[in-house]
Amino acid sequence: MKDTYTYKIGESLYLNLTNRCSNRCTFCVRGKETYEGYALWLRGGEPTAEEVLSEIGDPKRFREIVFCGYGEPTYRLDALCKISDAVHAQGGKTRLNTNGHGSAICGRDIVPDLAGRLDGINVSLNMPDAQGYNEVCRSIYKEEGFSILLDFARRAKAAGLNVWFSVVDCIGEEKVAACRKVADGVGIPLRVRPMIS
Ligand code: SF4
Repeated sequence: MKDTYTYKIGESLYLNLTNRCSNRCTFCVRGKETYEGYALWLRGGEPTAEEVLSEIGDPKRFREIVFCGYGEPTYRLDALCKISDAVHAQGGKTRLNTNGHGSAICGRDIVPDLAGRLDGINVSLNMPDAQGYNEVCRSIYKEEGFSILLDFARRAKAAGLNVWFSVVDCIGEEKVAACRKVADGVGIPLRVRPMIS
Protein backbone atom coordinates (compact mmCIF):
# COMPACT_ATOMS: atom_id res chain seq x y z
CA MET A 1 0.00 0.00 0.00
CA LYS A 2 1.25 3.48 -0.91
CA ASP A 3 2.30 5.75 1.96
CA THR A 4 -0.03 8.62 2.84
CA TYR A 5 1.58 11.96 1.98
CA THR A 6 -1.63 14.00 2.01
CA TYR A 7 -4.94 13.42 3.77
CA LYS A 8 -8.21 15.30 3.76
CA ILE A 9 -10.08 16.22 6.91
CA GLY A 10 -13.13 18.41 6.50
CA GLU A 11 -12.41 21.04 3.87
CA SER A 12 -8.65 21.08 4.46
CA LEU A 13 -5.79 19.01 3.09
CA TYR A 14 -3.13 17.89 5.58
CA LEU A 15 0.45 17.11 4.62
CA ASN A 16 2.40 14.29 6.21
CA LEU A 17 6.03 15.28 5.53
CA THR A 18 7.74 13.35 8.32
CA ASN A 19 7.28 10.99 11.24
CA ARG A 20 10.20 12.53 13.14
CA CYS A 21 9.42 14.54 16.25
CA SER A 22 11.32 16.19 19.09
CA ASN A 23 8.53 15.23 21.48
CA ARG A 24 6.83 12.04 22.54
CA CYS A 25 3.56 13.47 23.85
CA THR A 26 1.45 11.20 26.02
CA PHE A 27 -1.66 12.16 24.00
CA CYS A 28 -0.10 11.89 20.53
CA VAL A 29 -2.14 10.11 17.87
CA ARG A 30 1.12 8.53 16.64
CA GLY A 31 0.36 5.75 19.09
CA LYS A 32 -2.29 4.60 16.64
CA GLU A 33 -1.71 2.72 13.40
CA THR A 34 -4.18 4.98 11.60
CA TYR A 35 -5.69 8.41 12.14
CA GLU A 36 -9.11 9.31 10.70
CA GLY A 37 -8.75 6.17 8.59
CA TYR A 38 -5.38 7.19 7.16
CA ALA A 39 -2.19 5.16 7.66
CA LEU A 40 0.29 7.94 8.43
CA TRP A 41 3.43 5.94 9.19
CA LEU A 42 5.80 6.59 6.29
CA ARG A 43 7.15 3.10 5.63
CA GLY A 44 8.93 4.03 2.40
CA GLY A 45 10.60 7.23 3.63
CA GLU A 46 9.71 10.89 3.61
CA PRO A 47 8.16 12.37 0.46
CA THR A 48 9.81 15.01 -1.72
CA ALA A 49 8.17 18.42 -2.12
CA GLU A 50 7.38 17.47 -5.73
CA GLU A 51 5.60 14.25 -4.70
CA VAL A 52 3.47 16.18 -2.24
CA LEU A 53 2.71 18.98 -4.70
CA SER A 54 1.56 16.52 -7.33
CA GLU A 55 -0.95 15.11 -4.81
CA ILE A 56 -2.17 18.59 -3.83
CA GLY A 57 -2.98 19.59 -7.38
CA ASP A 58 -4.98 22.83 -7.33
CA PRO A 59 -4.77 24.04 -3.69
CA LYS A 60 -7.81 26.26 -4.14
CA ARG A 61 -9.92 23.11 -3.92
CA PHE A 62 -9.21 23.16 -0.18
CA ARG A 63 -9.90 25.66 2.57
CA GLU A 64 -6.24 25.45 3.55
CA ILE A 65 -3.18 23.26 3.18
CA VAL A 66 -1.98 22.22 6.64
CA PHE A 67 1.51 21.00 7.52
CA CYS A 68 0.65 18.46 10.21
CA GLY A 69 1.60 14.84 10.04
CA TYR A 70 2.58 12.03 12.32
CA GLY A 71 5.58 14.21 13.25
CA GLU A 72 6.96 17.74 13.51
CA PRO A 73 6.86 19.37 10.02
CA THR A 74 9.82 21.71 10.62
CA TYR A 75 12.17 18.71 10.37
CA ARG A 76 11.39 19.19 6.65
CA LEU A 77 11.90 22.96 6.53
CA ASP A 78 13.13 23.04 2.93
CA ALA A 79 10.21 21.00 1.62
CA LEU A 80 7.79 23.00 3.75
CA CYS A 81 9.03 26.30 2.26
CA LYS A 82 8.99 24.96 -1.27
CA ILE A 83 5.46 23.58 -0.95
CA SER A 84 4.18 26.72 0.75
CA ASP A 85 5.55 28.92 -2.03
CA ALA A 86 3.99 26.72 -4.71
CA VAL A 87 0.62 26.69 -2.91
CA HIS A 88 0.63 30.48 -2.59
CA ALA A 89 1.64 30.89 -6.22
CA GLN A 90 -1.56 29.02 -7.10
CA GLY A 91 -3.74 31.09 -4.78
CA GLY A 92 -3.98 28.59 -1.89
CA LYS A 93 -3.57 29.11 1.85
CA THR A 94 -1.14 27.40 4.22
CA ARG A 95 -1.02 26.68 7.94
CA LEU A 96 1.71 25.10 10.05
CA ASN A 97 0.85 23.02 13.10
CA THR A 98 4.04 22.87 15.13
CA ASN A 99 5.44 22.10 18.55
CA GLY A 100 7.54 25.27 18.20
CA HIS A 101 10.89 23.47 18.29
CA GLY A 102 11.84 24.14 14.66
CA SER A 103 14.71 26.52 15.43
CA ALA A 104 16.27 24.05 17.86
CA ILE A 105 15.74 21.22 15.38
CA CYS A 106 17.37 23.16 12.52
CA GLY A 107 20.09 24.67 14.71
CA ARG A 108 19.22 28.25 13.70
CA ASP A 109 16.34 30.71 13.89
CA ILE A 110 13.87 29.51 11.25
CA VAL A 111 11.40 32.39 11.69
CA PRO A 112 12.91 34.40 8.78
CA ASP A 113 12.32 31.36 6.55
CA LEU A 114 8.68 31.18 7.58
CA ALA A 115 7.90 34.91 7.48
CA GLY A 116 5.58 35.67 4.58
CA ARG A 117 5.25 31.96 3.74
CA LEU A 118 2.40 30.88 6.01
CA ASP A 119 -1.09 32.19 6.59
CA GLY A 120 -1.22 30.78 10.11
CA ILE A 121 0.94 29.02 12.68
CA ASN A 122 -0.58 26.94 15.45
CA VAL A 123 1.98 26.35 18.21
CA SER A 124 1.01 23.61 20.67
CA LEU A 125 1.51 25.08 24.13
CA ASN A 126 0.03 22.07 25.91
CA MET A 127 1.02 23.10 29.44
CA PRO A 128 1.58 26.35 31.38
CA ASP A 129 5.09 25.62 32.67
CA ALA A 130 8.33 23.87 31.78
CA GLN A 131 8.02 20.98 34.21
CA GLY A 132 4.44 20.16 33.24
CA TYR A 133 5.36 20.49 29.58
CA ASN A 134 8.15 17.98 29.82
CA GLU A 135 6.02 15.55 31.80
CA VAL A 136 3.35 15.55 29.12
CA CYS A 137 5.46 16.11 25.98
CA ARG A 138 8.58 14.13 26.97
CA SER A 139 10.77 16.37 24.82
CA ILE A 140 14.30 15.59 23.68
CA TYR A 141 15.01 19.14 24.95
CA LYS A 142 13.62 18.21 28.38
CA GLU A 143 12.18 21.19 30.25
CA GLU A 144 13.93 23.62 27.88
CA GLY A 145 11.45 22.53 25.23
CA PHE A 146 8.96 24.92 26.82
CA SER A 147 11.16 28.04 26.61
CA ILE A 148 12.20 27.05 23.07
CA LEU A 149 8.56 27.08 21.94
CA LEU A 150 7.78 30.35 23.73
CA ASP A 151 10.77 32.00 22.09
CA PHE A 152 9.75 30.69 18.67
CA ALA A 153 6.20 32.00 19.10
CA ARG A 154 7.44 35.42 20.25
CA ARG A 155 9.77 35.71 17.26
CA ALA A 156 7.08 34.55 14.85
CA LYS A 157 4.69 37.18 16.15
CA ALA A 158 7.38 39.87 15.94
CA ALA A 159 7.99 38.85 12.31
CA GLY A 160 4.33 39.55 11.55
CA LEU A 161 3.22 35.93 11.30
CA ASN A 162 -0.32 35.04 12.34
CA VAL A 163 0.50 32.83 15.32
CA TRP A 164 -1.62 31.36 18.07
CA PHE A 165 -1.19 28.80 20.82
CA SER A 166 -3.35 25.76 21.31
CA VAL A 167 -4.10 23.50 24.25
CA VAL A 168 -6.35 20.49 24.58
CA ASP A 169 -9.24 20.84 26.99
CA CYS A 170 -8.45 17.58 28.79
CA ILE A 171 -5.71 19.31 30.84
CA GLY A 172 -8.47 20.81 33.00
CA GLU A 173 -9.84 24.29 33.58
CA GLU A 174 -7.16 25.35 36.03
CA LYS A 175 -4.31 24.54 33.67
CA VAL A 176 -6.15 26.06 30.71
CA ALA A 177 -6.47 29.29 32.72
CA ALA A 178 -2.76 29.17 33.54
CA CYS A 179 -1.97 28.63 29.85
CA ARG A 180 -4.10 31.65 29.02
CA LYS A 181 -1.97 33.72 31.40
CA VAL A 182 1.22 32.53 29.66
CA ALA A 183 -0.27 33.32 26.25
CA ASP A 184 -1.48 36.74 27.39
CA GLY A 185 1.99 37.40 28.78
CA VAL A 186 3.48 37.14 25.31
CA GLY A 187 0.49 38.72 23.57
CA ILE A 188 -0.46 35.63 21.57
CA PRO A 189 -4.02 34.27 21.38
CA LEU A 190 -4.84 30.87 22.88
CA ARG A 191 -7.23 28.40 21.31
CA VAL A 192 -8.61 25.55 23.37
CA ARG A 193 -9.44 22.47 21.32
CA PRO A 194 -11.14 19.21 22.21
CA MET A 195 -8.99 16.15 22.79
CA ILE A 196 -8.65 13.98 19.66
CA SER A 197 -9.51 10.41 20.50
S1 SF4 B 1 4.56 17.26 19.13
FE1 SF4 B 1 2.81 16.56 17.94
S2 SF4 B 1 3.60 14.91 16.61
FE2 SF4 B 1 5.15 15.30 18.21
S3 SF4 B 1 4.68 13.77 19.78
FE3 SF4 B 1 3.60 15.67 20.33
S4 SF4 B 1 1.53 15.49 19.46
FE4 SF4 B 1 2.86 13.95 18.47
